[in-house]
Amino acid sequence: MTDIDGSLGSSSPFPKSPVVPNLLDGDASIQFRCHPDVRCFNACCKSIDISLTPYDILRLRRHLGISSGDFLTRYTIPYEMEKGGLVGVKLRPVEQGTACRFVTEQGCSVYLDRPTACRYYPVALLSMRRQDEYIDRNAYALVQEEHCLGHQESRRLTIDEYRQEQGLQEYDDLGRGWRQLILKKKSSGPAVGKPTERSLQLFFMVCYDLDRFRGFIESPNFRDAYDLPEELWQKFTDDTELMLFGFQLLRQVLFNEATIPIREDALNRRLARKQERNAAMEAIVNKVGSAPKESDG
Ligand code: SF4
Ligand code: SF4
Repeated sequence: MTDIDGSLGSSSPFPKSPVVPNLLDGDASIQFRCHPDVRCFNACCKSIDISLTPYDILRLRRHLGISSGDFLTRYTIPYEMEKGGLVGVKLRPVEQGTACRFVTEQGCSVYLDRPTACRYYPVALLSMRRQDEYIDRNAYALVQEEHCLGHQESRRLTIDEYRQEQGLQEYDDLGRGWRQLILKKKSSGPAVGKPTERSLQLFFMVCYDLDRFRGFIESPNFRDAYDLPEELWQKFTDDTELMLFGFQLLRQVLFNEATIPIREDALNRRLARKQERNAAMEAIVNKVGSAPKESDG
């Protein structure tokens, strides 16, 4: 099962790519059906390349009853979405193999919480964004891999009907904030500047390691810096709400979209600390500059 990201153009650059080189709308009709009696059952889960969205991770680790940190260590591998830029995570296949860790003889063992890419297959979601627009546009492509016999089944339905059948509306809605961050970062270029190491770390923590992010916002430093109403703090017990707030914070940190109020006194304190540091540095420089040199004898 291959995950196709949003970088595909209007025609596939790979001569042997299984992606049918047409951009499709939601009302495009496809011929496809997957069911346990199909001869290729599980074939697509034997060789995986699946990127995970933050919401995929939230659902999977909740299903498994483990922390986000444990999930990352045991089930994922990180990858660079662009050189020196934002990092994504993929499902880690079995040791020394290509199969998904969740596949069993009976099918997917995490079926109710399976990732977005598994739900979409054999459709690929392509999120695109024009430079002058904030919103992203969705288009789709069809993936026709030889081993997948679902394309020979007689059922026809539109991509929108297929998305509904696969429960994708919720996954798309809750994955949109993350996709927009990536698209904005990719399309903004040098105007926004290179993200600092710290902001890249924040991106990783917010998007993939929600438990650690919860600890981060509960720290006195964070509470001291941001002026959040008590009702909002109450909502953060819910992972989904916390994730959505995290996307908002990332837009503020990465793109200066100031929507979360910062405490003025915290700003003043930070400014004062900076001035203190600068003054101390200046004093050291002056001291070093005025010290008699050995040769001054
Ligand atoms: S998560 Fe489930 S559907 Fe997706 S590749 Fe693994 S076994 Fe297959
Ligand atoms: S029909 Fe396609 S999606 Fe379904 S099990 Fe076979 S290979 Fe996988």
